[in-house]
Amino acid sequence: GQMLDIKSIRADFPILDRVLPNGKKLVYFDNAATSQKPQCVIDAMSNFYENYNSNAHRANHTLADEASSALENARSQISNFFGAKPENMIYTSGATEAINLVSYGWAKNNLQYGDVIVITEMEHHADIVPWQELSKEKGVEVRYVPINNETFTLDMEAFEIALEGASLVCVTHTSNVLGIRNPIEKIIEMSKEVGCKVLIDCAQGAPHEKIDFENLGADFLAISAHKMAGPTGIGCLLTSTERIQEMGPFMTGGSMIKTVTTNGSTFKDGHAMFETGTPRIAEAIGWGAAVEWLDQFEMEDIHSHVHEIAAFAGNEMEKIPGIKIFGNPSNKDSSGAVSFLHDSIQSQDLALLLDQGGYAVRTGHHCAQPLMDALGVPSTNRASFWIYNTKEEVDGFLEHLKYICERFS
Ligand code: PLP
Repeated sequence: GQMLDIKSIRADFPILDRVLPNGKKLVYFDNAATSQKPQCVIDAMSNFYENYNSNAHRANHTLADEASSALENARSQISNFFGAKPENMIYTSGATEAINLVSYGWAKNNLQYGDVIVITEMEHHADIVPWQELSKEKGVEVRYVPINNETFTLDMEAFEIALEGASLVCVTHTSNVLGIRNPIEKIIEMSKEVGCKVLIDCAQGAPHEKIDFENLGADFLAISAHKMAGPTGIGCLLTSTERIQEMGPFMTGGSMIKTVTTNGSTFKDGHAMFETGTPRIAEAIGWGAAVEWLDQFEMEDIHSHVHEIAAFAGNEMEKIPGIKIFGNPSNKDSSGAVSFLHDSIQSQDLALLLDQGGYAVRTGHHCAQPLMDALGVPSTNRASFWIYNTKEEVDGFLEHLKYICERFS
C-alpha cells in the first residue's frame, strides 16, 4: 500500500469526517455493501443538476445536447475503463439488473427446456433468483457448485462435473461474504472449451482489480457503480456484439423503439434496444467521474492496500477468543471482506456494540442465504475495507472488538 497516499485520498471523501450522534467518529467498514463517494463524483452530479439538467436524446436544444453528450461520454469512459467497446455496454441499475437482463434478454430467448445453467453456492441472490425464475418459466435446470467448507473455495472438481452438458455458467468474481476471489480465468476457459456461455458477476471484483472485458473473454460481465466510488442506481452489462444480436428486449417503452404504431412496434438495434425510458443521466455522469478518479491509481495498488488491511484484520481477529473467521483474508487474491462470528455474542448484538464505537459493519445473510446454509450459520458479521481505510482504523476496531468480547461473552 506504499504507492497510495491514503491521507490525501481520505481528503477526497467528506463523509469520512462524519461524527455520529453518540459523538464517535465514523469508521466505515461496510464497503462491500457500498463504497463512499469522492467529492468529484458528488460535484459532477450536482453540476449536471445545477447547470445542464435535461432529458437526453429527446430534443434539439442546448441543454439536451449537453446532457446527451455527457451520457455518451460517460459510456466511453466507463467502457474504456473496463476494456470494452462503448456499443457493448448496456447501462443498467446495477449488477442486479444486468443479471436479470441476461436472464430475460438472452437466456429466455436462447435456452430451451432441459438446458443447464451452472451457478454456485456462494452467489449473491442477484445471481440465483433470476435463474430460479427462468427455471420455473422455461424448465431449465439450475445446478449449484458447492464450496469446500474448510478452504471456503469453490469445489472445482464439482464444477467440472456440473459443466457437463451445460449451456450457461454464472459465477461471482469475488464472494461478497467470504472475500474469496474465484478462479474466473480458469472457469471461463473451461466453460468455453465445452461451448458454454459465461456470465461473471463483477459487483465485488470491480472495486478491487482491473476488469478487462476483452481479455477475460466472458460473454457477460455484470457491474455496479456504487461499490467502486460511483453513485447508487447505475451499473452496466458488458457483452459482445454476437450476444447482443441474440438478445431480445427485456423492458420495453420509450427510447428503445424505432417505430410505434397501433399495429405494433419495431426496436432499435444494439445496446439501445436494452436502454428503455429516461436514462440515468446524473448517475452515469457520476460514474464517469468515479472511473476518472480511480484512473489516477493502479488497481493493483488499491488491491494490495486493501488486502494488507484485510489480512492484518483477519489474522488479529482470529486471535481473539470466541471469534471465528469465514474465508481466507490472508490469501493474496482475497478482497477486503472479512466475515466473522463470535461463538456466544449474537451477530446483531455484536454489530450494535461495534456501532456504539463508531464502527459500521454489515450483519445478516448478505443476500447469500444458500451460502449461509452451506456454512451452517444464519448470518455473519462482515467488516469490509477499501482504499481509504487505514491500519489505525483497524487497530481501533480490534481494540473495541476485544473489549466487547471480554465484557459480553
Ligand atoms: N452481486 C454481488 C456479488 C454483490 O455483492 C451485489 C451487491 O451487494 C450484487 C450482485 C448486487 O448489486 P446491486 O445491488 O448493486 O445491483
